[in-house]
Parts: sequence; C-alpha cells; structure tokens
Amino acid sequence: MAENYDLIAIGGGSAGVAAARRAAQYGAKVLVIERGAMGGTCVNVGCVPKKVMWHAAELAQAFRDATDYGFVVTQPAHDWARLVERRENYIRRLNGIYEHNLEKESVKWVTGVARLVDAHTVEVDGKEYEAPHIYIATGGEPVIPDLPGAEHGISSDGFFACTERPQRVAVVGSGYIAIELAGVLGSLGSDVQLFARYDSILRSMDEMIQSAAIEGLEQHGIGVNLDSIPASVSRDGGELTLETANGKQHGPFDELIWAVGRQPLTAELGVAEAGIEVDDRGYVVVNKFQESNVEGVYAIGDVTGQLELTPVAIDAGRRLSDRVFGGMEGRYLDYENIPTVVFSHPPIGTVGLTEAQAREKYSDAVKVYTSDFVPLYYGVLDEKVRAHMKLVCVGEDEKVIGCHIAGQGSDEILQGFAVAVKMGARKQDLDDTVSIHPTSAEELVTMR
Ligand SMILES: Cc1cc2nc3c(=O)[nH]c(=O)nc-3n(C[C@H](O)[C@H](O)[C@H](O)COP(=O)(O)OP(=O)(O)OC[C@H]3O[C@@H](n4cnc5c(N)ncnc54)[C@H](O)[C@@H]3O)c2cc1C
Repeated sequence: MAENYDLIAIGGGSAGVAAARRAAQYGAKVLVIERGAMGGTCVNVGCVPKKVMWHAAELAQAFRDATDYGFVVTQPAHDWARLVERRENYIRRLNGIYEHNLEKESVKWVTGVARLVDAHTVEVDGKEYEAPHIYIATGGEPVIPDLPGAEHGISSDGFFACTERPQRVAVVGSGYIAIELAGVLGSLGSDVQLFARYDSILRSMDEMIQSAAIEGLEQHGIGVNLDSIPASVSRDGGELTLETANGKQHGPFDELIWAVGRQPLTAELGVAEAGIEVDDRGYVVVNKFQESNVEGVYAIGDVTGQLELTPVAIDAGRRLSDRVFGGMEGRYLDYENIPTVVFSHPPIGTVGLTEAQAREKYSDAVKVYTSDFVPLYYGVLDEKVRAHMKLVCVGEDEKVIGCHIAGQGSDEILQGFAVAVKMGARKQDLDDTVSIHPTSAEELVTMR
C-alpha cells in the first residue's frame, strides 16, 4: 500500500525544501525525498563551500596588501586541508539545520533515489508514495564533456573534494563557476590557466563586465586562454596535458577542472513514464506558474533550466506553495531583473539588461553612464585593482534598466541597487540620493 501525502517534493535542495516547508506551513501533509545530504547543491557543493573558499582567497589577498598598510608580516602559509575540514564541518551543521527545520514544520523526509511510477506515484527503494501534487526539484549536475580523456578531469564537485591544493591547474569553462574556482585557486597560490571556448568569458553579461573579469583574472596571475576549444586530455603519471582544437598542447597540470555547464537530473527520474514533457536537454518544461504539461506536477529550481540560482529556486518554490496550498491565486515568480553576483576577485554584480540587450530592444532611447576608478582602499597600495560601473537607462525619464558593477564590494553593493531597479528607479532618483562617502557605491549615485 502506498503512503499518501498532499505533496511530494522530489529533491531536498534549495527549491524542494523551501517549497515543502511553505506548503506545510499551510497545513499540507508533505514528504521530501532526497538521495543525498539535505540542502542540495547550494549547501553541499555550491554556493556555501564556494563562498567559504572565496573568503579564504580574499584573506590571502589581504595578507599580501597588509604590508602596504604598514603591517610587518611574513606571508603566512596556508593549510588547505584545515580549511576544507572546517568548511565541511560547517556544512554538516547546515545539513542538520535543514533537517531540523523540516522536523519543525512536520515535513517528513526519506533518504533514497526517487523514481516516478506515474504522474502521482513515486517509488523509493521499493516503497511507493502518492500525492495529488508532485514538485520535481531534482536540480542538476556538472557536465563532463564527451572527449577523449575527459575522465582525467574533475568537476566543481571534485574541486570541493580536493583535500590538497593542486599546484598547476587548468580550469575549462567561461561561466561564473569557472571564473570563481580559477580565482580561488589563483589567490591561494596555484598556477592557473583558464580555457574559454569563445573570444570572451561571462558572455551573457555586459561587455564591460566581461573585460573587467578578464582584467581581474590576469591581475591575479591567471592565464586566460580565449578561443580555446578543448579536444582531449591525456595523462602521463600524475601529469595532465590538455590539447585544444587548434592542435596546441597545454600543461602539464596536476588537476583539470571541467566547468562547462550543468545538466538537469531527469534522465533516471522516469519523467517519460509519467508523461512529463522535457526539452531536448532534459529540462522540465514549465509555464510561469511552474506547471508541467501534467496536471498536479510542477517543477522548480535548476531542473527547469531557468536562472540557476539558489534564491530563484527558493522563491519559485515558495510562491508555488503559496498558490497551490495558500490560496494566493495568480502568484508566481517574475524572472525579470534578478540580480546576481560573481564571486571573482574583485567581485562582480549585475542586474537587468546589458547595454547590448538594451540597445537591441530600445535602440536610440538608451543612455549609458559609466565610471572607471581606483577604489580608495587601493590608494596606498602599489597594486591597484580598478572598479568599473555602468548604468543602462532608457527613455526621456531615464529609467534604470541595467546596473553592472565590477570592483571591491560589488557583491554587497548590488542588492540595494537591485531593489531600486526592480522598483523602476530613474537616473534622477539615484542623483537625488545623497551619497555615502568615501565608498565605491557612491559612484552609482554621482555618475554624470
Ligand atoms: C559551484 C557552484 C556554485 C554556486 N554558487 C552559487 C551562488 O553563489 N549563488 C547562487 O544563488 N547559486 C549558486 N549556485 C547554484 C545553486 O547551487 C543552485 O541554483 C541551487 O542549488 C538550485 O537548487 P535546486 O533545489 O533547484 O537544486 P539542488 O540544490 O541541486 O537540489 C536538488 C536535489 O535533488 C536531489 N535529487 C536529484 N535527483 C533525485 C532523485 N531522483 N531522488 C531523490 N533526490 C534527488 C539531489 O541530490 C539534490 O540534493 C552554485 C552552483 C554551483 C555548482
């Protein structure tokens, strides 16, 4: 006999847990099925361990900068294994907090791999569970390309499993994960080469951001190899060589990290058996209400292939439960103007349309304001790391439709400006706001 619930969430990551808890708060009887550690990608092999490593990398830079600030410091050694141990302990605590939060809301969970028997029946280890509402929240996994020798490389998951810092590293990819991992390794002392398939990196972002990202990597001693299409990887003892499509050999490397994208975890889920439509890459096709083509089956988070970010997964999940169990008819997540940050060195923040997107949409009605400066922090340092900022405005009232910033503090600066963009702020509103001095953020309200 199957166990019955009001809702089954498949996946205990950002989306599944948030949506399950919200549904339970409305009184629904909820089951979460998770095959691994509670918290999913973000907590275990994503945002959280990445940000811990980024903080370590920022500290390493601070030690280097300290001399110019008058500190007499011998450059400290870094114990990577200790950092990893403390990071993993922290993650275990977070796993516990996730489980405790589910218990607090009376959400039941089982550990195991879920498979859809039909649209409303899920099987785990031979036991069946049924619900009128099924949330598919299985997220994704890193792609390992289908190339000779690709198995010699590791993914971002493998990076987080490293208990020693590899000295010579190839990072293949040009998205934010590639840039972030390259930055962490470079700052902590590895010799890093980044290989990007096309003639730039972070190609979905504003061109100013793309060049700022390259500038930041190169300033940190990371080799940026553009137009470098990986062709094969070979191993000789402990050493790896990457061959690119132009016939060049690169290496030797101690580690090669594939950061070439992610793919949805739907292949083993039985979506076909349940009649659920997926696109040619396996992402569940949903409408703006996160509804699949099958009534009562929804998908949220990375498995939908929309903006693959934790807060997006959480907010989509919560809004879905607000609608399905909380009576908030018409509630859905608006995917426009979602801010995002790249934890590079210096960090990058972006929200809204790029200049190119804006010009394509509004042509001559677009006006752009830029600023390029050395933040005060670097005034006393020999090595200057510049900041770059851009506001993209449209129309006579100069509504701000894009805000792009690269420079120290951008990761924290952006959130507030994202509120302004979301609210429809005009350039005049920014001008009318008195600046906070001396900061980098003030540039955004003093641009002319
Ligand atoms: C290296 C890296 C860094 C990142 N950094 C950031 C960041 O700084 N900021 C940000 O916002 N986002 C970041 N992300 C993205 C973020 O982690 C994801 O967008 C987010 O985790 C998506 O949540 P989700 O619930 O959709 O999927 P997931 O968190 O992946 O959760 C899905 C869960 O489903 C489980 N599952 C899958 N199939 C089954 C099955 N058949 N049965 C049972 N369980 C199953 C999985 O084990 C997993 O726990 C990062 C990702 C990576 C890889």
